[in-house]
Amino acid sequence: MAETPIKTIPWNGYVGAVSFTFDDALANQPQNLKPILDELPDVHVTFFLTDMGNGLKQDAAGFAALAKAGNEIGNHTKTHPHLTGVSAGELEDEIVKYANTIESTLAELGADVTVTSLATPFCENNDKVKNVIAKRHFINRDCGWHGRNEWDVEPDWMSIQAKVWTRSGATVPEMLSALDTAAFIGNFGGAQPWEVQVKGGSWLVVLNHGVTDDTGDDYSINPSDIKKIFEHAIENKLWIAPFGTVGAYHRAHFVVDAATLTATEDGFTVNWEIPNEHMPKSVPLRVKIDTKSVGENAVVEQAGKKLAPESDGSYIIEFMAKSLKVRKAGSDDVPGDSTVVKDSTAVLRKMTFANLTWTKFSLFDLNGNCLGETNGWNVPVNYPQGAYVIRAEALGRPAATRMVYVPNR
Ligand SMILES: [Zn+2]
Repeated sequence: MAETPIKTIPWNGYVGAVSFTFDDALANQPQNLKPILDELPDVHVTFFLTDMGNGLKQDAAGFAALAKAGNEIGNHTKTHPHLTGVSAGELEDEIVKYANTIESTLAELGADVTVTSLATPFCENNDKVKNVIAKRHFINRDCGWHGRNEWDVEPDWMSIQAKVWTRSGATVPEMLSALDTAAFIGNFGGAQPWEVQVKGGSWLVVLNHGVTDDTGDDYSINPSDIKKIFEHAIENKLWIAPFGTVGAYHRAHFVVDAATLTATEDGFTVNWEIPNEHMPKSVPLRVKIDTKSVGENAVVEQAGKKLAPESDGSYIIEFMAKSLKVRKAGSDDVPGDSTVVKDSTAVLRKMTFANLTWTKFSLFDLNGNCLGETNGWNVPVNYPQGAYVIRAEALGRPAATRMVYVPNR
């Protein structure tokens, strides 16, 4: 039987995950939500933009600022139509072309956005619609049901369910309870066989619209209530990350965990395919690698660069690199050394920061645009030569930033 040496650690090492998504490009989102997000550096969310109601056009600067702050920008179609009732040509315009429009509109405002996720208007979807979405996005959010995804159950990537907030439906206590269920907090042993079984932490996807105190708007949530919900997710130690970030991690794990090894002279290689070309540029995965067959001090490499193990022996690998290599350590391999970043200060930085456990690293360009999360103080292998800034975050202490220069690879 072919061996599968890589096992991804569920939900990036957290007990579970939650992705908050906000639809319709409403002006009250940048107005009322951005100040709350600015106060909570552990919370990053997704905005699904549309031109309906002039949404994106009237407030492109507001959404560009949210993108620069590390939030995801996704596609909610150009005019918010009933997608199951429009022609093939219209599907192309609404879905594929509009993803490009979102990117170019925000690029003019200095936000380097790559759209990888879509959310269907009215959650109306069918196979024809899914095929068009998959041409330009690796994942799609629909809505309904409890909105939870289990680690080992592969969902329909073109129809991820979401729990929908409404004032008259999912109340604040119900949302807080949903966050407990995602974090596997509670007693789930007594569920009846016909009820949904909860066997561990899961990924909860939440659908919100406006953020306003206007109680006449059933779909909107009070700013103080969404803040309470965010804070509960932090208390529950959930991985609070954008829809596309958690979705890419979840999707990648089904590929990497099934990938088999090929023996080499001094170890083995593992190769895999990217399941959809529109996945994010970088998909860091926290994994365990079975290196027993290669022996102690085995060296793990991607794209010719050694990866340093984390303090618990796991590795953070780059899924988009499509392969990794495990080999016996040679005479010039210093144990514990990492040459992932080839710059003169790398060794010094490693000594300074080796004993701190940062929980999140974000990569920025020199204009301050967030390019996504990254593996420690390392620029992912698929980024070009140049200067970058990496910001490390952890609960309970100030963030740290470092400039990292990537020489010609
Ligand atoms: Zn909508």
